[in-house]
Amino acid sequence: MERNALCWCGSGKKYKKCHMQIEEKIQLHKANGEIVPPRKILKTPYQIEMIKKSAALNTAVLDAVAEKICIGMSTAEIDRIVYDYTTKHGGIPAPLNYQGFPKSVCTSLNNEVCHGIPDENIILQEGDIVNVDVSTILDGFYSDASRMFTMGKISERAQRIIKVTEECVQRGLAAAKPWGHLGDIADAINSHAQANGYSVVEDIGGHGIGLDFHEEPFVSYVTPKGSEMLLVPGMMFTIEPMINEGSPDFFVDEDNDWTVYTIDDGLSAQIEYMVLVKEDGIEVLTK
Ligand SMILES: [Zn+2]
Repeated sequence: MERNALCWCGSGKKYKKCHMQIEEKIQLHKANGEIVPPRKILKTPYQIEMIKKSAALNTAVLDAVAEKICIGMSTAEIDRIVYDYTTKHGGIPAPLNYQGFPKSVCTSLNNEVCHGIPDENIILQEGDIVNVDVSTILDGFYSDASRMFTMGKISERAQRIIKVTEECVQRGLAAAKPWGHLGDIADAINSHAQANGYSVVEDIGGHGIGLDFHEEPFVSYVTPKGSEMLLVPGMMFTIEPMINEGSPDFFVDEDNDWTVYTIDDGLSAQIEYMVLVKEDGIEVLTK
């Protein structure tokens, strides 16, 4: 791109005053043999503004679930809350019909790692821990986050895995820095999980997000510090480690082809945030 032309990102600034510096820096890292992001996953100021609106709706949907979720409720009722709130506010639940997924939200209980399908026959019981994973499309822009909910009095085992999962995510966020690497986040998460006797699921990870539900890069939470893609301002992705009590191994439900269970029936917990890399740090876009 010519130095004095208007930058491709639509900022209205000349290229030399905008993305030229970032892209020259990317080229230096690339020459060093590092994995660098393609331009198409660096969000423009307009895209960031629109994706933030989607993320705000996603947070409001999770708040609506948090207000109503209780013992005795079916996971199908959670699905209805998500569908109704999202569509009433002009959004579309991203999971609905995504690669054949039949519902608007994923609800994963206890030994379910992820991708649980809401069902009239799954009733929340005292002692359950449940991950509710909400993803929203608003005006064509995507957002994604999940929270853990606890039903009544839960076991110490369950309390501990949720607490450590929260700590893992916080450590991951603290390790995320512009011009660092995705592996820095993974290492912070994995080492804290291991120090607590837990494991991190390896074959399912996070993803880029914003213009599509799942974009580049795949985000692993087990790779070493300094490895994987360079973190460049404008990148957006999820931090969503799945922490297992025992083995990191899992199996997928043969009947519905979606729900992922721990192989040893141990508990699994997950918390997901969506983040934006900025020149001066990381911004968390969802709650
Ligand atoms: Zn620019």
